[in-house]
Amino acid sequence: MPFIIDEEKCTACGTCIGNCPNRAIVRRGEKVFVTSMCCDCGHCTAYCGMRAIGPGPQKAQQDVEKLNAAIRKSLGLKKNIAAVKYADRRPKGATPVAGLSFWCYECGAVFDGKTGPVFFTAQNSTCAGAANLGLGTRETGREAYDVIIETMVVGDGGYYAAKELLTLGRKNFPTFNKTYKGMIIGPLDRTEQPDVILLPVNGKQLCMLSTAYSFETGEMVEGKIGGGTCLATIPVAFLENRPVFSCGDYGGRRHMGLADQELIAAFPFRLVPGLVRNLKRTVFSRE
Ligand code: SF4
Ligand code: SF4
Repeated sequence: MPFIIDEEKCTACGTCIGNCPNRAIVRRGEKVFVTSMCCDCGHCTAYCGMRAIGPGPQKAQQDVEKLNAAIRKSLGLKKNIAAVKYADRRPKGATPVAGLSFWCYECGAVFDGKTGPVFFTAQNSTCAGAANLGLGTRETGREAYDVIIETMVVGDGGYYAAKELLTLGRKNFPTFNKTYKGMIIGPLDRTEQPDVILLPVNGKQLCMLSTAYSFETGEMVEGKIGGGTCLATIPVAFLENRPVFSCGDYGGRRHMGLADQELIAAFPFRLVPGLVRNLKRTVFSRE
């Protein structure tokens, strides 16, 4: 594990436990430990009055190619892992998305190996996904917006029975307090230091991921369902720094090209090195 606690100095006060953004510090019996979910951020050191916590001999592995290969091998994942990263400017190597598209479609193209990193903005967003992702919205006249909602979203055969219900459930999802200018969406092995990764997984693969995450901390992975695929995945992983899974919504599933048995799991990238370490340690490693 990257950071370690010097037992000689530690008084087991527990101050560091609540101040690790990754929930990577736990108490076991009378001792306090750093678990494999530590990502080397160093945040905890500011909270230890005893100066008992510091870098260990090993560093968290941040090589996206190696992490990507390790996850795919452990899970037997056939599709690509998508990575997303917020950026206010399009970086070199990311192609601008041409014209209108869906965020979920761009992710699906990455899953299927059809595209490299692209730069997606609110101006590219056909649906409300950009707003769900903290990218703001494309200019759409109120009248046109109402027509889309009335004809495609509400009523029998739609997502909701009435317009008032459209936003009701959203209070269960975290909201962005900042608008980003764009987002890079690309294969994990070609996206340096992403914010969140998205994996199209079946039930067993989701179980493996969740077990690896819970292995040392006992933290559970929760599902978010009942909103758009974008809303149910990225905001939780990015804003709350915790993993989440979702079946996605009807349109998102179609645009991502998900098979019936597939769900989407979203993990903050900073948890990925720990995840990879623990995938080799759980009950599944005996298979
Ligand atoms: S804050 Fe320092 S002394 Fe307190 S439990 Fe953490 S490492 Fe130990
Ligand atoms: S993840 Fe960061 S805050 Fe948590 S134990 Fe590791 S270095 Fe400390």
